[in-house]
Amino acid sequence: MGINMKIDILSLFPEFIEAFFRQSMIKRALDAGLIEMAVTDPREFSHSRHHQVDDTIYGGGAGMLMQCGPLFEACESVLPQKGPRDRVVFLSPAGIPFTQDKAKELYRDYNHLVLICGHYEGVDHRVEEHLADELISIGDYVLTGGELGAMVISDAVARMVPGVLGDAGSAAGDSFYEPILEYPQYTKPVDYRGWKVPEILVSGHHANIARWRRKEALRRTLKCRPDLLAKLQMTAEDKKLMAEIAGEEEES
Ligand code: SAM
Repeated sequence: MGINMKIDILSLFPEFIEAFFRQSMIKRALDAGLIEMAVTDPREFSHSRHHQVDDTIYGGGAGMLMQCGPLFEACESVLPQKGPRDRVVFLSPAGIPFTQDKAKELYRDYNHLVLICGHYEGVDHRVEEHLADELISIGDYVLTGGELGAMVISDAVARMVPGVLGDAGSAAGDSFYEPILEYPQYTKPVDYRGWKVPEILVSGHHANIARWRRKEALRRTLKCRPDLLAKLQMTAEDKKLMAEIAGEEEES
């Protein structure tokens, strides 16, 4: 089976990204050849004597901006010929917010992602205009660099690659796979400080467990993220479970 997802990260702090490559599922997936990930330092493409990659801002303003040249050349080094299944993403607070749907889209529509991490006061606007296919933000806050965002995207995309999670069923049950949160899950011990695992989960009755899980997923979504339920295509059974939940909440 050939690798069908390669992720290149362009970062001035490669050690930060390399530490991520060495952990847990990502390390296993890389070692097993299920995905390919690499980091490239744009500093290697600086033409200045001191490998400078930033400079002052035209028109004035505090701080320094990453220059576009090293980023264009670093990108071209990992993507010499761009095809329709290559995607260049610039991590930016101005981007569209990253979601599970976006992760699915990146995994489904592309084989090669290049994730560009900005730093300092940001990046010369020509990267956004002429290099990136799209801008993605990981939330409405400003970070010091794009590295955390690149790791967030890589992680969310990598766990969709078959075999990365080991158990192929696990990703489909995750929160947000559908617009519903995951049901509550428990492991041993069955009784911790008097807080017991719901009896139904140790009953061995699979149909009852499946029904309980769906109902508790709905209840949890209603409690924690009611906004998601508006997007959920509810089955007749879901509607019945929601009515039961409403009745139970009224009683309590
Ligand atoms: N001056 C920029 C602005 O106001 O948009 C912020 C630059 S920030 C200090 C440096 C870099 O961190 C950005 O170029 C971007 O790559 C990354 N970054 C910061 N916040 C981010 C976010 N919420 N999502 C994705 N990347 C972010």
